[in-house]
Amino acid sequence: MQFSKLAEMFDRLESTSSRLEMTDILSEFFRTVEPAELRQVIYLSVGRLHPEFYPQELGMADKLVLKAIASVSGRTPKEVEDLWIKTGDPGEVAETLISKKKQMTLFSEPLTFQAVVEGLTLIETATGKDSQDKKMKHLARMMHDSGPLEARYLCRIVTGRMRVGAGAMTVMDALALAFATKEQRPDIERAFNITCDMGLVAETVAEGGIEAVRKIGVTVGDPVKVMLAERLRSLPDIMDRMSGRCAFEYKYDGMRVQAHIRKDGAVKLYSRRLEDLTSNFPDIADALKEQLIGQEAIIEGECVAFDPATGSLLPFQNVTHRRRKHDMEQTVEDVPVRIFMFDLLFHDGKDYTLVPYPERRAKLEASFSKHEGPGPDKVGFTTRAVIENEEQAQEFFDQAVAAKCEGIMAKSLEDISIYRAGSRGFLWIKYKKDYTQALVDTFDLTVVGAFYGMGKRAGMYGALLMAAYDPDTGKFGTTCKLGTGFDDAFLAQLPDMLSKYRSEKKPASLDAEMVPDVWFIPGVVLEVSAADISISPIHTIAFGSVKEDAGLGLRFPRFTGRVRDDKTPEQCTTAAEIVEFYQLQEERDSDSPEMGDEEPSE
Ligand code: ATP
Repeated sequence: MQFSKLAEMFDRLESTSSRLEMTDILSEFFRTVEPAELRQVIYLSVGRLHPEFYPQELGMADKLVLKAIASVSGRTPKEVEDLWIKTGDPGEVAETLISKKKQMTLFSEPLTFQAVVEGLTLIETATGKDSQDKKMKHLARMMHDSGPLEARYLCRIVTGRMRVGAGAMTVMDALALAFATKEQRPDIERAFNITCDMGLVAETVAEGGIEAVRKIGVTVGDPVKVMLAERLRSLPDIMDRMSGRCAFEYKYDGMRVQAHIRKDGAVKLYSRRLEDLTSNFPDIADALKEQLIGQEAIIEGECVAFDPATGSLLPFQNVTHRRRKHDMEQTVEDVPVRIFMFDLLFHDGKDYTLVPYPERRAKLEASFSKHEGPGPDKVGFTTRAVIENEEQAQEFFDQAVAAKCEGIMAKSLEDISIYRAGSRGFLWIKYKKDYTQALVDTFDLTVVGAFYGMGKRAGMYGALLMAAYDPDTGKFGTTCKLGTGFDDAFLAQLPDMLSKYRSEKKPASLDAEMVPDVWFIPGVVLEVSAADISISPIHTIAFGSVKEDAGLGLRFPRFTGRVRDDKTPEQCTTAAEIVEFYQLQEERDSDSPEMGDEEPSE
């Protein structure tokens, strides 16, 4: 396949914001590609050579890319830089300058897709003293053989700016359309959720059809998308929903970790965002390996910091010190952590993801031995009880809060209580102590825009446009303009934090009416509290769900101070959850005020 064919498809995708149209473009293209090539196409379409959870080494410094464009286009680095500053997009710069050059020169060898994969692999693996120079030359060589459109995507891929607007949901729709049926789409989604590898799923369905996809299982070492909980506003509601009987577990306030202990002794720890956390919790990795009964397993637990003097659990902020990149040895000593395990997904050759929770839990408890030798046991299980009435529920919840936990997680004991990778549902229901406050729970929202500040915030961002995600449409919708809760230090670091997500135009994955001074591709996730939710003529989340021609907006939003770097934008609060919040609030307070203006920025 010529790389130009793929570049043209990317260009078509970019030129539409309709999910249906994107699905058609993709499925039509998928049918024309060899299965093995399709796998690489999937990775490249998000600017990668591997699945999301593999560490990405492709990122080239802007300076090197600028040099490569200059050398291929025959322009001076200054000319390239000027255009780059003007457009903010190296892809556009390469396209424009190479297009001018190509009008004057003869076309060279056409660039094949295979040559691009090889060239990018060379860029990724270049090491040694002159590695930067080598990377630059590999890119220049590919651009030399490429047309302007291909150069656009090459430069975006190597600088981490590859965003064609089609999210995972759209890609799965397209795979179903190309190689299966609409009814079989859930099988594709499940395979993706348990492998986190869309390339693998695409190759499998293209080659072996849906039967082959159904045989895909979890692999020890490759992360599984985590199962998530719904929320209800009271313990009686939870007992009702669980038909009067369920398990309660303490809800620990720490960092979720999915641990993969392989037969060969290697251990990998993943965050819920699929980042590799192994180097942050080397002590936990060792303890899990040592205490596992058996050869291999995938388990999940919450890593929580504790006070070694009293054994008392410490809040979330403490365990985040472990996210540091340097001086880990000292940090491990300074911040003692325990893991409270709550689930088991795989053990010695058996996949437990389709096994009901009571059996998974029993297997988990039978699969780890007690710690022997000096020092505290770093490995334990979440405190748990089977609850059969409201008194027991209240008592267990009070105990959890007294033990410095956030609240409880109620878990279904029914036969249907499988591990639902990647989905949020009522098989798990959370209930936290802060639910007694005005609005149930906080919201995790992604930054999609910024407004320049005024007064003492002049010269920096003064407020942010925040969005939530709608998995049903694969789009983000705005929820509020957030201008409160920021301290000076946070405001000062905002431009840096957001710069790599800056976009010249409204991102294709976003529905928005409000227009900020600067747009951002969804990337940074912040935790936000609010006084309530109202019907909004301006905001677009859950548009039309509660009222025709209106969305929902958060009133008096406030940044809680917590950056959710453990969440991807797609793991933000969803449109359905916001609707649910709205309905809970309406039930509670039948005459809630209509949407006014949001709190003005400070
Ligand atoms: P929150 O901000 O409330 O943690 P979230 O969106 O990150 O919400 P939820 O699924 O809503 O995730 O809440 C479940 C989270 O609680 C899990 O991701 C996990 O990190 C944590 N947790 C703590 N204790 C438990 C437990 N016993 N069982 C399952 N998850 C637990």
